[in-house]
Formats: sequence, C-alpha cells, structure tokens
Amino acid sequence: MEDSVMFGPGEYLPDPTEGITDPKDLPKPKIIERSRNFAHRPCPRCGERCGRKKVFTRKLHDLGDLVNGRPREILLTYSQHRCSTCGKYFNADMSDLAAPKAHYTHRVVAMAVRLVVEDGLPYEAASWHLWRDHRVFAPWATIQNWVEAGGKKSGPAHRKRLR
Ligand SMILES: [Zn+2]
Repeated sequence: MEDSVMFGPGEYLPDPTEGITDPKDLPKPKIIERSRNFAHRPCPRCGERCGRKKVFTRKLHDLGDLVNGRPREILLTYSQHRCSTCGKYFNADMSDLAAPKAHYTHRVVAMAVRLVVEDGLPYEAASWHLWRDHRVFAPWATIQNWVEAGGKKSGPAHRKRLR
C-alpha cells in the first residue's frame, strides 16, 4: 500500500463484518508464529553469555489482512535468560516487533499515530478506520496514549505526504 493514499482500494471492498452482531461470527484471526527463542544470549549488562531459563509466549495484534478481512495475531515465543555473572534476568530482544509489554505491533501503533497526526482523524475515527481497513481493534483511548507518547519510539521515520 502506498503511504500517500489513505483511502485506497480498501475503501471499495464490501465489509465482511457488516451486519454481524455476534463476535463468534467474525472472521477468525490468522495466527502468525514468530520466534525469539534462543539457547544463549549476551547479558545486556555485562556481556556474559547467558543460557536460557524459561520460554514464554505473548500475543500481539498486528495489522490484518485487507483482502480476506481476517485479523492477524502474532504468537511470539521468546526466551528468558539469567546471567550467572551479574544475576540479571532479561528476555531475548524482540523490540523489532513491539514495545515491551505492548499488546500491539509497532506496525499498528505507527498506523494509528499516522491516522491521527498526519491525516487529522479524531481518535474514534482512527479506531474505526483501523478496524474497518486493517481488522485490528484498538480502543480510541489506547490510540490517544500512543499519540501522546509521540509514537516516536515505535513509529518509523516521520514521512510527509505529498498533496
Ligand atoms: Zn550479566
């Protein structure tokens, strides 16, 4: 999708969720598995090579599939490590996908912030747009938090739109 076109071809697709009142009838999310699960990682504090202690998973809401209207969830498996030298516990780096403790990928946050900051949509409209065109549900208050946080940490470089 071109960045300069907000109301692109998606605008003319029929909404597969139109008229659906029961959440059970919504299209099933497509689950994408991602792994940041390593046997060893260097300690971020002292550089020591650290073995894996535990494996966790977290779920991230990603931008969905515009063509078949399915939401997209990332099931991220990651390792936790403990440094035997300095005692630090840390997780394998997954900051390329999402901010720590976030439930949404950087892609979702960047899109939401762009809708508000560059396209001037009110939060409620941005929330609706994300659902309608990207099949990801983000409450407007969450979007507000992202915008107020600047979106700087998670967004790509600021892009100007040509008019
Ligand atoms: Zn260490």
